[in-house]
Amino acid sequence: MTELLFQTDSYLQTFEAHVTAIDEAGHGVVLDRSAFYPGGGGQPYDLGTLAFGGSAYPIIRPRKAGDDVVHVLEASADLPAPGTLVQGQIDWPRRYKLMRTHTALHILCGVVFRDYGAQVTGGDMDPLQGRMDFEFENMQKELVQAIEATINVEMSKDHPIRISILPREEAFQIPDLIRTKINLLPEGIRKVRVVEIVGLDLQADGGTHVHRTGEVGLIRVTDYKSKGKIKKRIYIELEDKPA
Ligand SMILES: [Zn+2]
Repeated sequence: MTELLFQTDSYLQTFEAHVTAIDEAGHGVVLDRSAFYPGGGGQPYDLGTLAFGGSAYPIIRPRKAGDDVVHVLEASADLPAPGTLVQGQIDWPRRYKLMRTHTALHILCGVVFRDYGAQVTGGDMDPLQGRMDFEFENMQKELVQAIEATINVEMSKDHPIRISILPREEAFQIPDLIRTKINLLPEGIRKVRVVEIVGLDLQADGGTHVHRTGEVGLIRVTDYKSKGKIKKRIYIELEDKPA
């Protein structure tokens, strides 16, 4: 089982860990702890390097395999023996952009739900751009402009973001979580990670977020599309700024 360091500290850029197993077929390394986000919930997996034996090797992709994170290396890379101490380094500029983008999308969800009562049905993101689908019947330019103005007001209020990991029973008591379909979580999941933009949004979520909404920077709504009678897609972009 890999301890998921990013779940409690999304700002961790480097870490040490021990190799617990090798996936020979997939050319992957299983670690006892990892800061690499393995992808999921619309957030892409991290890139970076794993260092051992005096060399640093690029990670092609980290992926979840049961309770483990497998760090897949290039086919030409050496594989460390189980028990080896390794150093992991996240591609931080890319990850930080994804954190800002992920939080921006939660601000968008929070505003659209609070002001229009529309639920989110899906989403996707790349560094500094993302999209979300909402249960919306009608959407026009004026509405989208109003949403853009409001999300930037919320961003500038610098709401803190709180992460908590709650027992399943406790999480199910929080009425706001129902709208993120918490009731669809498989029975076997005993703990629920909750991401709260204080005063704006509350979701069951496994992703990495910034500490305060002010870190997100200016958000632009770049496009919107109808994807069906009650499905409207909103596209956002963030301005680039140094990590
Ligand atoms: Zn999320």
